[in-house]
This record gives sequence, C-alpha cells and structure tokens, in this order.
Amino acid sequence: MIETPKEFTILIVDDEKSNLEVLARILSPLYNILIARNGSRALELAKQHTPDLILLDIIMPDMSGFDVITQLKEASATVNIPVIFITGLTGTADEEKGFFLGAVDYIAKPFNKAIVKARVNTHIKIVDQMRTIERIGLIDSLTKLSNRRGFDDRFNADWGRAIREQTPISYMLMDIDHFKTYNDTYGHHQGDVALRSFADAAMNTINRSADFIARWGGEEFVIILVNTDAEGAVEVAENVRKNVEDMVILTEDGKETRVTVSIGVNSTVPKLQTSPDDFMENADQALYKAKASGRNRVEVYKRGGMR
Ligand code: GH3
Ligand code: MG
Ligand code: MG
Repeated sequence: MIETPKEFTILIVDDEKSNLEVLARILSPLYNILIARNGSRALELAKQHTPDLILLDIIMPDMSGFDVITQLKEASATVNIPVIFITGLTGTADEEKGFFLGAVDYIAKPFNKAIVKARVNTHIKIVDQMRTIERIGLIDSLTKLSNRRGFDDRFNADWGRAIREQTPISYMLMDIDHFKTYNDTYGHHQGDVALRSFADAAMNTINRSADFIARWGGEEFVIILVNTDAEGAVEVAENVRKNVEDMVILTEDGKETRVTVSIGVNSTVPKLQTSPDDFMENADQALYKAKASGRNRVEVYKRGGMR
C-alpha cells in the first residue's frame, strides 16, 4: 500500500507512556508524530522540527506544561506553534492560565478519542489556512500582522461603512524612532526581534476587535479605529506610545534594549467626496510633526494648523 505523505507534524508531550500511545494511535494515521516524555525534550524537538501543533500535558516531573509553553512563546522559532493542553487538571483557573499563557485549546483527561481528533483537525485546519493567507500575500511574515495589501482591503471596507453610517474613523501612522541606529547598534536580526515586540505591544494595546493593525512596511505600522473620533484615537495612540516606551526588549545575550515610537493621528467623518489618500497623507503630516518636535510623541492632524 502506498501512503500519501503526511503534510503536518504533531508533537505530543506527556510523561505517561499509556497516554502517549493512545494519542499517537489516534493521530498517526493522519499526521507525522513526534513524542517527548518531558519538558526539556519537548523544547528540543520543537526547536529542531517546528511541528505544526503541540499537545502538551501540564503535570510532569521536572518541568510543567506551563513552563514549557512559556519557553515556547519566548523563542522566535517556536512562538507561532499552536499548543493544546491535554490535562487532568480540570479547574477553570488552570484552564484560564493555559489560555493566558498562549494555548489555543484545552482538553480534559480522561479524553474522548473522537473529540481529541476533531479538535486537533480543527487547529490543523487553521494552521493550513493561515499558511495559505501568508502565501497569497496578505500577512507580513515577520510580525504576522496584515501587510499593506491586507490593510487596503480592510481600510476600503471600513471607509465605505463610515461614509454610509456617517461615523468617525481614525487612522494612526506609527514610525519607530531612530530605528536605523537600533539596527546599527544591535544588528539586523535584533532589529527584527524589536519589530516583532513592537507589533505585539501595539496589538495588545488596541482592545476592540473592530480595531485593525497592519505593518505598512519597514518600521512603519498603521492602526484603523472605526467609530472612534480624534479624542478617542489620541487616547489609544498615547497608550501605544507609552506601552512601547515601557517595553524592555532583551537581546540574545540578555542586554535590555528599548525603542520609542512617533505617531501621527487623523480622524474624520468621511463624505462621499472625501479623498482617503488625503486622509492618510494628513496623518503622515502629523507624524512628520511628531518627529520634528522631538519624537516619542503623538500629534493629531489639524486642518490648516500643521506647520
Ligand atoms: P526616524 O526616527 O526619523 O524614523 O529614524 P529612523 O532611523 O527610524 O528612520 P529611517 O527611515 O532612516 O530608517 C529606518 C530603518 O528601519 C532603516 C532600515 O534598515 C530599518 N528597517 C526597515 N525594515 C526593517 C526590517 O524588516 N528589519 C530590520 N531589522 N530593520 C528594518
Ligand atoms: Mg521610517
Ligand atoms: Mg523610523
């Protein structure tokens, strides 16, 4: 019999041999399986093979599943691998902690085979779709945010709705300060780490699901805030600026580094004849002013008052 090559690899981590065997038996017809019986082996295999999904037990001798996921999320090679906890701990506090640490799902032991299979299939499908989106070029591969093309689609839709419903829409253009110096000082690779940290910090600052962030290119990022006027947008921008200022980015050898960001904001209730290009260009003018007046600042575009 010829087997079709399996496209996805799953790492199963459990200190109990019987659990490993059952899970491997359920999943091996569909997926390549890697097995680890303790946390440090799991981290080693995750780094070596970057599996597409990790099933992780929580209670293990030496290193707990919580410790394992924390380390996975700290390393750029493994940060994006989805993790499902499979555990005998059933308290909601543990479940909540699992999600807080970045797990995508939580399955209680004793597990039902059909349910494990269904959940794993669902998450693998998400991984697959994410790759497709990256491939067709809407996602920036470094930060996993939307890229400019992804932004354009979204902006056009939000802009159209703001015209129809006559609601305010705000736009923030963010540019990391003196980033060339950061690269020159710590190297391009560390520069990439800083861009990812910035993306995470900005992403975690905006909290409404309707808000949208994208990487505009290089060290420039944008956020669209729908139903948000200038005052609200400035508040969000100020929070981003502050959170970035407070963020410590560690280098590989443990040095603490920092970046700051300058932000230009523009806000309007658009009319049919309002030019979206002008709207964005005016945020750029505000950004220019933020740079010129010392950086690490937020400036709002004001009609006629931007010199
Ligand atoms: P300013 O405060 O005026 O914005 O100064 P700046 O140095 O940030 O601005 P400039 O436009 O001169 O430099 C941007 C730098 O960003 C130069 C470029 O090497 C770096 N950069 C752009 N894209 C990437 C990237 O993907 N990775 C890394 N590591 N650096 C990048
Ligand atoms: Mg720039
Ligand atoms: Mg810059």
